[in-house]
Amino acid sequence: MRGWTTVVVGLAIAFSFSILATDQVALPKKLYRGKVVLVTEALKRRGVKASTEELKNQVVLETENELIPILPDWRGRAFFQDERLRDRDVELIGFIRPGLPYLSVLSVYTFDDEGHRTYTDYWCDVCSIPMYELKPCDCCQEEIRLRFERQELPKEFRENKKATPISK
Ligand SMILES: [Zn+2]
Repeated sequence: MRGWTTVVVGLAIAFSFSILATDQVALPKKLYRGKVVLVTEALKRRGVKASTEELKNQVVLETENELIPILPDWRGRAFFQDERLRDRDVELIGFIRPGLPYLSVLSVYTFDDEGHRTYTDYWCDVCSIPMYELKPCDCCQEEIRLRFERQELPKEFRENKKATPISK
């Protein structure tokens, strides 16, 4: 009996987690390349006149041919807070909800001086936990650091992958 209860509770927990997860990733994830910049600067470069007062501090991903506003959520907010993440080449994995212009960022990659791709987040050396916004550590309240880890893109986003069906 106890075994069954464990299984049922386990399934219920797994199910509720999958609902939460689905809300985040149900939309197809894509890879976006460019630089995250202040929208005021991007508009200025294009000769578009707009009041900078209202647009101040808003950021967009500037790709080869468009400006995509970044949603300041749990992951995108760092681009508003931390200028070290702006004006540099980035690869962002994320998705855009239908009917919205905002890119919801899920993963951030930058490049180091030697051109190596680095997965980018924040890290607390005291607690050994990752964080995604620039603020005191959730756990110990100490300062956290911007962390760069050399890492390839997830398989599905790598180029020149073989055009064979993915087998599991
Ligand atoms: Zn900490």
